Amino acid sequence: MVNKPLVLVEVRNGTIREVSFEALAFANQLMKQGGEVTAALLGSDVSGLSKELFEHGATKVVHVSHPHLKEYTTDAYRQALLQIIEVEKPCTVIMGHTALGKDLSPRVAMKLGAGLISDITSFEQDEQQTLFIRPIYSGKAFEKKSVSTMPSFLTIRPNNFIKQHQPLKKNRCTNIVDLKVDIKELRTVVKETAEKMSGQVDLSAAKIVVAGGRGVKSVEGFAPLKELATLLGGAVGASRAACDAGYCDYGLQIGQTGKIVTPTIYFAVGISGAIQHLAGMSQSKTIVAINKDPDAPIFEIADYGIVGDLFEVVPLLTKAFKEI
Ligand code: FAD
Repeated sequence: MVNKPLVLVEVRNGTIREVSFEALAFANQLMKQGGEVTAALLGSDVSGLSKELFEHGATKVVHVSHPHLKEYTTDAYRQALLQIIEVEKPCTVIMGHTALGKDLSPRVAMKLGAGLISDITSFEQDEQQTLFIRPIYSGKAFEKKSVSTMPSFLTIRPNNFIKQHQPLKKNRCTNIVDLKVDIKELRTVVKETAEKMSGQVDLSAAKIVVAGGRGVKSVEGFAPLKELATLLGGAVGASRAACDAGYCDYGLQIGQTGKIVTPTIYFAVGISGAIQHLAGMSQSKTIVAINKDPDAPIFEIADYGIVGDLFEVVPLLTKAFKEI
């Protein structure tokens, strides 16, 4: 049973990432009554974000401020997290299954000789044990795993656990601890971060994804998909074939060797449905496939299928959504 989980909070551009709120909800679901959910908030000027963490289920916030933690580097975060774990002694450490979580969790787990279960999408719990469920073989099967080390490490797939928000009551006691960490000389330093696709919704966290494949045929062909995504407040994604063909940036690739997304609605436009693509999107809540080939494999996993030319169907959808 979990009674003292610690959630590593991810901050990007001064904002807490949604997956960290989901991790707090996950920690609360796992925990037996009377436990304590600690949020570890690392950065250089992030103390103002603590309130949001309490509102999303943290009972304690450990605030670690250091100039080296302004940008994520494996070296600095690894050192800081090890020191937090030494002081807080959590039973389990939870992170998002994001680029940061995938990079950091195995390094810290290995250093402590601890067990790690990654990419968790759900769990089963009884009095004796907790079994964590994660997709394997590109989403073709699921495995159930338990972990017995103390601490253990868990990463959760974004968009799988529903965040819980409760406004803080006036005068409620909030437990904030400022922890000083010693970060030794870093082997790598981030000099500059150049962000691509600024202004667009973060693909990994998007609730609606409009993804295009080779069928989109050109850079210009993506314009109607972008229009639909923008209208719905979603993000544009792509198959590897579309990226390889130069229709869009590799940062948009979804699949086995790209990003994993689990939006509420996934539009697969001109995408055949290769297993490597499904690995990145098959857990989406609702899949809408648009393809001119009625035998395209994507229709086998789609909740809604539209057989037709994407250059006719997508503008019609956009028009219909505008009228709602
Ligand atoms: P295609 O398979 O060519 O399908 C195009 C579809 O568009 C067809 O179904 C066609 O009917 C339809 N179409 C064409 N014109 C229109 C139109 N006008 N209107 C409507 N429909 C139309 N792929 C990924 O996506 N992500 C990955 O991460 C990934 N990793 C890989 C890793 C490895 C090791 C390997 C070997 C492959 C990987 N692939 C990955 C590639 C994958 O196998 C497929 O080649 C790729 O997903 C195909 O992309 P696609 O569906 O866009 O193209």
